[in-house]
Amino acid sequence: MSYDQSAMNELHWLIDMVQTIEVGLVVLDRDYNIQLWNGFMENHSGISPNSIKGKNLFDQFDYLPATWLQQKMESVFLLKNRAFISWEQRPYVFKFGNYRPITGRADFMYQNVTLLPLSSLTGQITHISMIIYDVTDVAINKLQLKAANERLEHLSQTDGLTQLHNRRHWQLCMQKEFDRHARYGEPTTLVMFDIDHFKRINDTYGHIAGDKVIQHVSHILRQSLRDTDCAGRYGGEEFSVVLSNTNAEAALHFADRLREKIEASELRFESAILKVTVSIGICGIDEHLSNSAQWLAQADSALYQAKQQGRNCCVIFSSDEAE
Ligand code: GH3
Ligand code: MG
Ligand code: MG
Repeated sequence: MSYDQSAMNELHWLIDMVQTIEVGLVVLDRDYNIQLWNGFMENHSGISPNSIKGKNLFDQFDYLPATWLQQKMESVFLLKNRAFISWEQRPYVFKFGNYRPITGRADFMYQNVTLLPLSSLTGQITHISMIIYDVTDVAINKLQLKAANERLEHLSQTDGLTQLHNRRHWQLCMQKEFDRHARYGEPTTLVMFDIDHFKRINDTYGHIAGDKVIQHVSHILRQSLRDTDCAGRYGGEEFSVVLSNTNAEAALHFADRLREKIEASELRFESAILKVTVSIGICGIDEHLSNSAQWLAQADSALYQAKQQGRNCCVIFSSDEAE
């Protein structure tokens, strides 16, 4: 076989492979006119090479982010360097719809794209090649893993009965607020409350009724909160809230409204109507506090005073009254 023949064979094979390879190949000239469109591109777009050859890429696909993509391509032409577009940056460049309908896992093909400068025999960059990789499986797996991790994270931070923050996560939020105050000095107030005579509910109507009461109270609490407030179930029937940008007097208004709402509400359980009240301790942050544990202890001490004063009331912590 002559050298020419063997070179021809090689070229023939290469063209065959370019046509059938499971990777998208597109060649563009300096004006973004399509010069090559391989089988992968044809199969997924439904557009044949013959009908698209010579047409401008951006005229053919008006959904392409032209400015952004041209900027990238211009730098490939000028710097003679490759450029990459990852699916995480942009899920796809070419929209190949209804992708893998059997598994139904994605509405489109996730793609990684490489832009490759192609030089002419004189060494000038006259063309650019787009190499399109189907990374749908990788992307879907990664997205599912991310979603699963987010669900797990949420579960690990949430109290199952009330969907409020659990104690551990609430304490982290509270610590953050404490640190934020140390830096910016914004007023922040801690509110702790506990259902009055809750044991009676459990003893009279049973644990399930008790659980319903806890849910009922947390529901009223949630309705009273702003987005920036951080509320948790601190213990069995004990709740804790950090009110950001709120001083103790404003927190007293919040707490008293909450207390009244709970007192006025009733919960139907089987044939009984259950009513509960709460006692509330309030402690504004101030410079004398040396750490968040002390802040918590003072709110708890105010709550204890509220219980001492006959329950169904709110008490602001004051160092004079503390025992
Ligand atoms: P006080 O007014 O002094 O708060 O009286 P109390 O009866 O509420 O007393 P205390 O706070 O000590 O009692 C809390 C009770 O709550 C004790 C415990 O059996 C019950 N409890 C704790 N967690 C749960 C829970 O998740 N579900 C139910 N149903 N009961 C709980
Ligand atoms: Mg109680
Ligand atoms: Mg208690």
